[in-house]
Amino acid sequence: MAPLHVLVCCQRGLAWIPVIFINLVVCWSYYAYVVELCIYTIPNTEEQVIYLVVFHICFVLFMWSYWKTIISKPSNPSKAFSLPKAEKEEYEKEERPEAQQEILKKVARSLSICTCTGSGAIRYCNRCQVIKPDRCHHCSTCDKCVLKMDHHCPWVNNCVGFSNYKFFVLFLAYSMLYCIFIASTVLQYFIMFWTNQLPDTHAKFHVLFLFFLAAMFFISILSLFSYHIWLVAKNRTTIEAFRAPVFRNGADKNGFTLGYYKNFAQVFGDQKKYWCLPIYSRVNVNTTRGSMWHTFLYQRSTSTGLKRLTGNAAHVDNFEFLWLPSTICLNMYLNKLNCTQFCQVSANQ
Ligand SMILES: [Zn+2]
Ligand SMILES: [Zn+2]
Repeated sequence: MAPLHVLVCCQRGLAWIPVIFINLVVCWSYYAYVVELCIYTIPNTEEQVIYLVVFHICFVLFMWSYWKTIISKPSNPSKAFSLPKAEKEEYEKEERPEAQQEILKKVARSLSICTCTGSGAIRYCNRCQVIKPDRCHHCSTCDKCVLKMDHHCPWVNNCVGFSNYKFFVLFLAYSMLYCIFIASTVLQYFIMFWTNQLPDTHAKFHVLFLFFLAAMFFISILSLFSYHIWLVAKNRTTIEAFRAPVFRNGADKNGFTLGYYKNFAQVFGDQKKYWCLPIYSRVNVNTTRGSMWHTFLYQRSTSTGLKRLTGNAAHVDNFEFLWLPSTICLNMYLNKLNCTQFCQVSANQ
């Protein structure tokens, strides 16, 4: 056991190398820009101040979203998705796959699930021993089931999914902003050093490298960022883009889409003022009316089948609605259900 334990520890340690690499590059870029460019190279004080202020705004937003992506723990399915003790024993004793499916179907009836495997079976993770909620996938690197898993990203040494997708997309956006700001402000000094209009000092090396690195990172991140904006607009994860989720009526790559605005709100929150900040703003609570209807991920419309209930969830065709008297109840309910997505709140009183 001991050598295995050491191996696991080594693997975990090595996984931080890309994160350390990114941080070292960022630290160097900070030194090169602030000290070598702004302090040693730029002669004009006004220009120095403007560059330094804008640079620090970009730097803070970039680092903030980057570290939020790293430190946000991936959300895992709640206990509600584990098999109850009796069913679990029954499932383990049973060897016939059809009989095992029957056990899973019985348990899944009380859960909010509408996707299945390609063959129509309940999605079950043998490793975590849970029924997979919609959009949940097992990550082999984390060795856990992750809610709304997008991909496992080595550059943040974390799973990108329900808990940090907003932060990840903002991290891409702000890293691009950071790079394009550096490249565009360094360009004129890059040309001056290159054409020997400025004396050969140690700043020359830093400025030349700063421009090349910023331009290179900007171009490489641009394609990834564009792809993720497209995914957000379509309400798909990277996994779903490669393999369409299967619903009762078959595979549907657009199965989760709610229209562009709601798709963006689902990731960035429904309060627009927080869209650009790496903080949560997912639930828009209409406190003035004291109650709300909350719809979950697979509901594509709120216009039909509304049914008022008090404190309980109900299934109305493909829709599930819940009446809750307060935000606290909503949070308690979400924690209990471990919903992978929730998309819209509208008052109904
Ligand atoms: Zn799993
Ligand atoms: Zn992972």
